[in-house]
Amino acid sequence: MDVAKMEFQNQYQQADQMPEYECLLFDLDDTLYPLSSGLSKQCTKNIEEFMVKKLGIEEKRVTEVNQVLYKNYGTSMAGLKAIGYNFDNDDYHSFVHGRLPYENLRPDHVLRTLLLSLPYRKLIFSNGDKVHVAKTLSKLGLNDCFEGVICFETLNPTNDDEGCSSTSIFDHSCLFDAEISELPVTPIVCKPFANAYEQAFEKANINPQRTLFFDDSIRNIQAGKNIGLHTVLVGTSNRTKGVDYAIESIHNIREALPELWEINNKDTAMGRTFSGKLLAIKTSVTA
Ligand SMILES: [Mg+2]
Repeated sequence: MDVAKMEFQNQYQQADQMPEYECLLFDLDDTLYPLSSGLSKQCTKNIEEFMVKKLGIEEKRVTEVNQVLYKNYGTSMAGLKAIGYNFDNDDYHSFVHGRLPYENLRPDHVLRTLLLSLPYRKLIFSNGDKVHVAKTLSKLGLNDCFEGVICFETLNPTNDDEGCSSTSIFDHSCLFDAEISELPVTPIVCKPFANAYEQAFEKANINPQRTLFFDDSIRNIQAGKNIGLHTVLVGTSNRTKGVDYAIESIHNIREALPELWEINNKDTAMGRTFSGKLLAIKTSVTA
């Protein structure tokens, strides 16, 4: 086989192996806006304040307790519920997210143009509550770029503590040396746990094999990869296990994944339409 023919065949095989995406699934915080906005830092401060003021956790231990809960449970809230604290979900969200410096977020016209030029279903998949997601998208000028939002309330529709039946608080000191399997289970459904992804796929009618998932958390990315998603880690260019693509900023999508637009051209040429799917999802995803 001559070289030209081999090259042609390689190209053809690569194109053939490239998944045909139909959906782009985006985390929100620190993915669609940069960490430098300061929201994430303030969020951690607010969580720690909630833990001290509302739950009576010792101030000098609050940072380490929060870190270990976040590490083991995906979100601090999921961890707090798991170890036996009872509190109203909406109270928590308004305390923690209600006082974030949203004024630091500015309309992102570059991202908006990129998103609108991508002819795929686009959905938000966030552990955050619906008010926070809506406010953030609005500040970024991106509300109309997504056909649906999967957020805290989508995965945890009832605001009761039935799942959290323990009457005592799990000893904080045990948190630090416990194996994951020994830790109490959380009643909260959130990334990076498999049930969160499964429910999201079901509620939003997502086929993970045809979906590209963007998140700044390596843990969420690896969990997504394990469950069949194609993955883009945002915030770093270092690719590690479970990461199909790594980009410093969400603005780099076009450089990292030009094929997303090439498929656009191909599909347009073939007269393929996406509008039917867009309509279908609007009614099935609540946020
Ligand atoms: Mg994030």
